[in-house]
Amino acid sequence: MVPLPARRALLAAALGPAGRGRLPRHHAPAAAARPFSGAGGQEEAEGASRATAMLRHLLLKLRATGPVTVAEYMREALTNPGQGYYTRRGGIGESGDFVTSPEISQVFGELIGIWYISEWIAMGKPKAFQLVELGPGRGTLTDDILRVFKQLASLLSKCDVSIHLVEVSPKLSEIQALMLTGGKVQSNPEDDSAYMKGVSKTGIPISWYRDIQDVPPGYSFYLAHEFFDALPIHKFQKTEKGWREVLVDIDPDVPDQLRFVLSPSSTPATENFVQPEETRDHVEVCPEAGVIIQRLACRIEKDGGAALVADYGHDGTKTDTFRGFRNHKLHDVLKAPGTADLTADVDFGYLRKMAQGRTATLGPIKQREFLKNMGIDLRLQVLLQNSRDTATHEQLLHSYDMLMNPKKMGDRFNFFALLPHHRLADPDKKHKPESKSPLPPVAGFGELLLK
Ligand code: SAH
Repeated sequence: MVPLPARRALLAAALGPAGRGRLPRHHAPAAAARPFSGAGGQEEAEGASRATAMLRHLLLKLRATGPVTVAEYMREALTNPGQGYYTRRGGIGESGDFVTSPEISQVFGELIGIWYISEWIAMGKPKAFQLVELGPGRGTLTDDILRVFKQLASLLSKCDVSIHLVEVSPKLSEIQALMLTGGKVQSNPEDDSAYMKGVSKTGIPISWYRDIQDVPPGYSFYLAHEFFDALPIHKFQKTEKGWREVLVDIDPDVPDQLRFVLSPSSTPATENFVQPEETRDHVEVCPEAGVIIQRLACRIEKDGGAALVADYGHDGTKTDTFRGFRNHKLHDVLKAPGTADLTADVDFGYLRKMAQGRTATLGPIKQREFLKNMGIDLRLQVLLQNSRDTATHEQLLHSYDMLMNPKKMGDRFNFFALLPHHRLADPDKKHKPESKSPLPPVAGFGELLLK
């Protein structure tokens, strides 16, 4: 653990002392105005033709093979290599379909950057670490974190830091490359598991991969912000005859329209994914999330590090959360596949279970608690003191409200962490990870910071 005064110093050093003002950001933060403007006419037209292409593809598939699972439908709609939503559009930000915390305020990424530095110190300042982000979107979060690393360059001077981005979308990886390196990247480097490589504007090597398995082993800090909610889910419904899987089929009454149907009998997924002790009558399970958490837990157990997961979700209590977003409005998940973001709440209870005890887990705790513990209030005060114009003041207060208000993102988003057992074990009971002794604090998860 970093002692309290050291933490306070860390925050001040990373974010600039009081009176210094906000760190320069290379692009304007999201404007305060809401509601968001929709996509332009040309984009609408492109969207419509893509919808037709994706729908045509799905109709052909359904005619050939019969109904598909919701997971298969979601995978096609989001990441089909030709027409998937993320492959082609991935509309993050005000002019897109949905906005995320890092896009709302630079403070979000800065505090996450401090979380990693704080854990790096707490774990004895290892000589090297990889920061591995899953689903980096526009690259904003990593950009904000890299600015904190630059600010703390003297602290990190003896540490070999590298960035590893896991991204399936060619379009978004291009946007990330532009944001992080100014576009100076090498595609398909020889003898490398990465599909793209570059160097950040702050001089740190960055590599891109399609799969977490391609990221080289080594001491790593993992980050997944609004990543797990984009992974395909299976949906199950309890009926009088037992559990049935929800499938997607062609509506026989309306041409070129899709509908949900129930499998006539149980499916392999029903057998494997619905727990015998389940008490809900509708369940969503994301096996891909389970596999990725298992991989992260194995890697952390073997090579060290930590994972921070932030997303909307629940602890194994919610039922039907599958939904679509287009132009910042709810969108029918079966309409115009490929043109809307499809998402489902993350089941943190399932993620905890999938870590299979290989690592300790912390959370989920609400975003507003996590950010408060990380010192967001102090940061806001410093930024307000250092800006004189009303528009910036309003923007700062508005973005703080978006992130922290319980009715907005404050209560809806959660933070969850995987950490090596020894990080949390009581020093006197180091070899008894099963010990129920009070946990030494990890930044953000306890009321320990800046009090
Ligand atoms: N973390 C960003 C973006 C969230 S959107 C933010 O908070 O702003 C989800 C991101 O995950 C996108 O970058 C999308 O292209 C990526 N993604 C979706 N499915 C993926 C998969 N199976 N493997 C890797 N990346 C994926």
